[in-house]
Amino acid sequence: MDYLKLKEEFKTPFYLYDFDLIKSRFLELKDVFKARKSQIFYAMKANSNLSLLQMLVRLDSGFDCVSIGEVRRALRVGAKPYKIIFSGVGKSEDELEQALKFDILYINLESEEEMLLLESVAKKLKLKARISIRVNPNVDAKTHPYISTGLNENKFGVEIDLARKMYLYAAKSAFLEPVGVHFHIGSQLLDVAPIHEAAFIVAKLLRELKALKIELKFFDVGGGLGISYEGEKEPCLYDYAQGILASLTGLDVTIGLEPGRFLVAKSGTLVCSVLYEKNTLKKRFMVVDAAMNDLIRPSLYNAYHEIVLPYAKGEPSLCDVVGGICESGDFFAKGRKLPKSERGDIVLIKEAGAYGFTMSSNYNTRPRICELAIENSVVKMVRKREKFEDLIALEEECLD
Ligand SMILES: *Cc1c(COP(=O)(O)O)cnc(C)c1O
Repeated sequence: MDYLKLKEEFKTPFYLYDFDLIKSRFLELKDVFKARKSQIFYAMKANSNLSLLQMLVRLDSGFDCVSIGEVRRALRVGAKPYKIIFSGVGKSEDELEQALKFDILYINLESEEEMLLLESVAKKLKLKARISIRVNPNVDAKTHPYISTGLNENKFGVEIDLARKMYLYAAKSAFLEPVGVHFHIGSQLLDVAPIHEAAFIVAKLLRELKALKIELKFFDVGGGLGISYEGEKEPCLYDYAQGILASLTGLDVTIGLEPGRFLVAKSGTLVCSVLYEKNTLKKRFMVVDAAMNDLIRPSLYNAYHEIVLPYAKGEPSLCDVVGGICESGDFFAKGRKLPKSERGDIVLIKEAGAYGFTMSSNYNTRPRICELAIENSVVKMVRKREKFEDLIALEEECLD
């Protein structure tokens, strides 16, 4: 990749995504489940760029959405409503109403209260709401506590006994139609055993319900597949699939998959430039033109991202790579061995395709950076760089 040429044309910083890599990972995942019916619902919170979504629509992907805004993104790029599902612990009444009107595949319920609210909304609209229940199987996903979601102490989903009770209620309701079950126990999982454990627990519930004549069609195993940021061993897709398939004996279901990070993380690079090399009495800092508002994962989770200076020839030594924001937490790496750089040198922050741009903000009145994509060796801009005027547009309307 000729980053110098890209810099000349687009300036830094920018995100660069490899769409071909996303495609191949999508097809790889689909393939390991070919023994059964399956549907990928891409978890778009990882990266919701419209061009990226459009490319996935062409591959027949579905979408897992966590706000009505995300549902509208999916519809906007031509996804069929029956390929869209809606999850999240805090859906508002208005969001539930809109989701029903859009006639999406199902709504993933996360509490009994939400089920009752949805029932009343469906009644008001004279519709029948297709539902799935997010079960919290109480297994330890062994990942970072901020991205672990499958223990009873987490806010997500409902305990299995409550789920059973809710299905019995929903099956009798004139306005609810149970069609699926769902679990998602955490993110960045490198060991798939906890997912298999959860699948067996949840499949058992499905068999019990089947005996009671409540037949669920979708068995949604969530996302969470981890990727290698720092040389970790990635889970074997074949093993991942086999464990899930093994849990489903005697059940005729479509397997739902909600990969986010797995599909997009590796495809993305945050490309920035060195502003200054700064040496204090204690430390060497490399100050770059991107900052925590562009990629917050190091600040938020202490996440590791590989950093590469493809053109710098200087002697390597330890340094902190930091942005220019007025927070000590604004860093991309600490104590990393990198070559001495010159002002303007290109810096690549790797594996930034998931939870990068979607978590970005305008903190410090910094415009969001542009997003580029490469597909079949052609580079295109898929989101423009924001301008100062974009940032203040809504405030300006309020001036006297
Ligand atoms: C975030 C999320 C996902 C995607 O998680 P990844 O770790 O990025 O694969 C899938 N399903 C639900 C319900 C989520 O909240």
